Amino acid sequence: MIVAANLKANHTRSSVKSYLDAVSSFIGENDIKTRAVVFPPATALCPSRGNITVGAQNAWAAENGSFTGEIGSEQLDEFGIRTLLVGHSERRHIMGEGLDTTKRKFDFFAEQEYEIFFCVGEPIEIKEAGFDAVMTYIERQLDGVDLNYSRLILAYEPVWAIGTGKAATSGDILSVHSAIKGFCDKPLLYGGSVKIENAGEILSLEGVDGALVGTASWISDRFCALLNIADNIEKGLGQ
Ligand code: PEP
Repeated sequence: MIVAANLKANHTRSSVKSYLDAVSSFIGENDIKTRAVVFPPATALCPSRGNITVGAQNAWAAENGSFTGEIGSEQLDEFGIRTLLVGHSERRHIMGEGLDTTKRKFDFFAEQEYEIFFCVGEPIEIKEAGFDAVMTYIERQLDGVDLNYSRLILAYEPVWAIGTGKAATSGDILSVHSAIKGFCDKPLLYGGSVKIENAGEILSLEGVDGALVGTASWISDRFCALLNIADNIEKGLGQ
């Protein structure tokens, strides 16, 4: 199981340090086996710790160059970052990143053998059009992405569930995850309003290999609680 924290544009260098210290101690003291991944803002990137992978929320598909406001692999290398989020819905829908850009990023960083957390998920109008429309939309987002890439992790994150407090229902998650698993056997996380109250149910679902968490991960104690829930499920101790 993997539980990943997307800190978005929250936290500073110093608060990320305290955050990682707290999470790292929690994992060590509680013998947590669930894998913890943290995506801090770019200004707070730092090397991974033994028990926490630190990844980047975004990078341009280049080593370096004239890409104002972006960072490339050279800047990631400085911190030994080898894990990257690609295609998050906020990049797609707020920053206007299109299918070409996400694909170019995937290709560039896969070529460099980065671990890639690739996000897919439909906006509300597609969900309202029905399950077939949802799967067609997701398949289009994955078009051209090498689903056999060894360091690929997928995250199903319905746009309408992100940051809204309203997670997808277990039925919705089960049907989309099972359809994706039908053509891709990579680890598949669910993301979209996962929190302490619903994590046990979501993480126990067939085809859910972990969670990508935004809001509920921003306070280290809450992220630790989510790790603990996932770990208990993984160890067969219940929710
Ligand atoms: C996310 O941004 O990846 C996310 C899942 O956010 P939230 O948990 O706040 O819905």
